[in-house]
Amino acid sequence: MVMTAEQAVTWVGKTNTLIQSNKEYLTELDQAIGDGDHGLNMSRGFQEAEAKVSSSEYETVGGVFKDTATVLMSKIGGASGPLYGTAFLKMSMLLRDKPSVTQADFAEAVEEALNGMKQRGKAEQGEKTMIDVWHPVADFLKNGQNVNAGKLVEVAEQAMEGTKDTVATKGRAAYLQDRSKGHIDPGSTSSFYLFQALADVWKEGE
Ligand code: ADP
Ligand code: MG
Repeated sequence: MVMTAEQAVTWVGKTNTLIQSNKEYLTELDQAIGDGDHGLNMSRGFQEAEAKVSSSEYETVGGVFKDTATVLMSKIGGASGPLYGTAFLKMSMLLRDKPSVTQADFAEAVEEALNGMKQRGKAEQGEKTMIDVWHPVADFLKNGQNVNAGKLVEVAEQAMEGTKDTVATKGRAAYLQDRSKGHIDPGSTSSFYLFQALADVWKEGE
């Protein structure tokens, strides 16, 4: 698997499409255990990110991610803006000089993104946040030969669904304590869309 700057732009675009068509669902998830703004936050952020990257010229994958990070940080309110912004910023730093990236590069970038998000959110795996999706995806990408689009979707989807049974200890949902159980985490769901979009980009490149 490799990713070119052009494919990085497509990834942002496909993520936006998935977010826009699931905006109401993200809102409902956040209404159940948060304040109901996650659909709006994500749709505004990725709409603007797609507009920015699809109207610019890029020579490196890092360049695409840097602009994406800047837009997400400034356009998404709430906890998720700085977290997604940090993720794309960390990836952009590692992939700064690369016109295209290998799977090993990309795996390293996602690992960096995960570490940045954990630090930013002071969260670990198992606290019912988007980290619960990024963590297993980062581990999976390090798998080398066994990485493919179908498995990526499987890993991300299972991780997202797994948040249903856990109790939130970070973010707004933590105020609900045990009552946060029985609901899928909104940020894990938007992260699932991000990786589903990535799998679509890979499939097209095959
Ligand atoms: P807010 O919680 O400020 O309203 P959003 O609704 O846009 O922001 O995003 C909520 C999502 O952000 C949660 O579902 C969770 O996945 C993620 N999140 C919240 N706090 C943290 C944190 N400290 N670390 C990691 N992720 C977090
Ligand atoms: Mg919210």
